[in-house]
Amino acid sequence: MAEGGDTNAVNENVPVYEHVGVNSKPFHLGSFRDLWLSVLKPEDYSFNETSGEIEDAQFIEELGITPQTLEELKTICSPDSLRCHAEDETPDPDLVPANPQLATLKLRKRRLDYKKTLIRDIVGRHDMFSNELEMLSLGRRAEDASDTVPEGEIILTFNIMYPVLFVRFRHVRAYQTLHVLGSQKLTELRDAICCVSDLQVFGEFSNTPDMVPQFISKDHYKSAFFFFEGIFYNDMRFPECRDISTVTRDWAKTRGFPEFNTAKMEEATFSDLRMKVGYPYLYCHQGDCEHVLILTDVRLVHKDDCLDRKLYPLLSHKHRVMTRKCCACHLYISRWITTNDTLAPMDPCLYCDQCFRLLHYDQHGNKRGDFQAYAYVDPGAFN
Ligand SMILES: [Zn+2]
Ligand SMILES: [Zn+2]
Repeated sequence: MAEGGDTNAVNENVPVYEHVGVNSKPFHLGSFRDLWLSVLKPEDYSFNETSGEIEDAQFIEELGITPQTLEELKTICSPDSLRCHAEDETPDPDLVPANPQLATLKLRKRRLDYKKTLIRDIVGRHDMFSNELEMLSLGRRAEDASDTVPEGEIILTFNIMYPVLFVRFRHVRAYQTLHVLGSQKLTELRDAICCVSDLQVFGEFSNTPDMVPQFISKDHYKSAFFFFEGIFYNDMRFPECRDISTVTRDWAKTRGFPEFNTAKMEEATFSDLRMKVGYPYLYCHQGDCEHVLILTDVRLVHKDDCLDRKLYPLLSHKHRVMTRKCCACHLYISRWITTNDTLAPMDPCLYCDQCFRLLHYDQHGNKRGDFQAYAYVDPGAFN
């Protein structure tokens, strides 16, 4: 993101720091984009590749050099100049003959054999990195040309934090990083945020373990809001949605705070908003599941970005969490949580489906002992 500095402070839509190194002052995202487009040439943000010859000509003109100097620069700066041998002449240092006679080669072989014993069959950090979601979407093109992101569109990067309830020191980090387009509705970001509290199933099922309903909290309680710059953006897409910000607004009114406005989430696009970069905002759903949301970057779409509009909001980072295993087999991910369970080693206790049924019901499906059982959704289920 461009940082305006004091000289540009005359235009309130060029972001300047409110707190240096922390967050900017609020600015209108759509106007910021328009300012960019007014100073850039269309070819600067065009998705079309500039041909090599045109690029060379522009380079010669910008630096005021001769074509001969350009050729010389190309030779000097070429990655080929970094090689000490031609590719096929370079000996492989890891290749040692099976029965070496030379003392140095014997030592080398022993060293290499020892190194092989250290390799463990786990995914290393580097492999994880190469699997990063961001890499997968890099340079993706839409199958249907009508789904291509328009030139001059902006991409906003949001870091979604863990629910405020879960926050411990090690969890003060982004749980998800999502990229949204300026023209997208706030509801599109809301639908892309995944949280276990949306997947909970309410009710006690110890007497009827086969009857766990397929409806999850997200189907029952559809209300949610974003709180951006003093405005509550409520999700009102469905008839059962309610304005759950009322409680907070009424509380604020009785405490002498200025009145907060409300708007509909489904009617606002990100380009319509005034926001601060680096500032903590709030996303609240399921009544009281609160997430801190930080806008970390606003930029124009580049031709190397994912250009398929349908893939936005685009997930580029997902924090992996440890899954909680069944307390009996320590093998499968837990699906049940029991309380007041005399058969359990602790209270509450987690079980996989199989162990839960084997331990708590006889062969006729009758309940053994007195306990309460609830469906459990593991946060690691999203990994
Ligand atoms: Zn949540
Ligand atoms: Zn188990």
